[in-house]
Amino acid sequence: MKIDVLTLFPEMLDALNSSLTGKAREKGLYELNVHNIRDYTNDKHKKCDDTPFGGGAGMVMMPQPIHDCIVAVDPQHTAKRIYMSPRGKVLTQAMVKEFSGEQHLLVLCGHYEGVDQRVLDMDIDMELSIGDYVLSGGEIPAMVLIDSVLRYVPEVLGNSESTVDESFSQPLLEYPQYTRPQEFMGMSVPEVLVSGNHANINKWRKEKSLEITRKNRPDLLEEK
Ligand code: SAM
Repeated sequence: MKIDVLTLFPEMLDALNSSLTGKAREKGLYELNVHNIRDYTNDKHKKCDDTPFGGGAGMVMMPQPIHDCIVAVDPQHTAKRIYMSPRGKVLTQAMVKEFSGEQHLLVLCGHYEGVDQRVLDMDIDMELSIGDYVLSGGEIPAMVLIDSVLRYVPEVLGNSESTVDESFSQPLLEYPQYTRPQEFMGMSVPEVLVSGNHANINKWRKEKSLEITRKNRPDLLEEK
């Protein structure tokens, strides 16, 4: 998979060089290219934003540098072009799985008050939100998208089981997990988990999943 990220703050994407996404990149399991939109401006002062027509607070990202950057990066429009935006469709695990089947993703990060609508109309396939709150830029949302998608790319996760059992991949949220030591500050691991009885362990985990889902996300139970 190839991923192109378009941003005014490329250094923010350096965080992807750590942990799982960093290892996957080192192993060549995906290609990441981060493009500075400012490199594409025709303005002699490298200006990429201006005040909104019609008035209002803040600045809006200008269409020319973004359009030229998109055309340079994806001239044939082979990529799925996504603009990270609070007014987009909200990202779900099902969408993450679907995106992991794409060969090429182009991810546009907005900043300030957002992006001139004309470049979105002309060049972008979909707007995608990571939740009902507003961040100052699209870089963290882009990293959320990339991290979640890469977990479904073959060989990125050490244990291929990991995406099968976790929250949202099942109808329920995940059960509690424990590791060594068996006793920690007077608290023991539930007896059933050290019993070796796998039928009982599975039953306990299902019950706990249901309990946690009912408490934290009853909407998921209603959906199902
Ligand atoms: N004025 C915009 C609005 O009300 O919808 C908010 C702009 S926000 C301050 C700046 C940029 O951050 C956006 O262009 C977008 O790229 C990104 N952003 C902020 N919140 C986001 C979210 N929940 N999901 C995805 N991107 C987000």
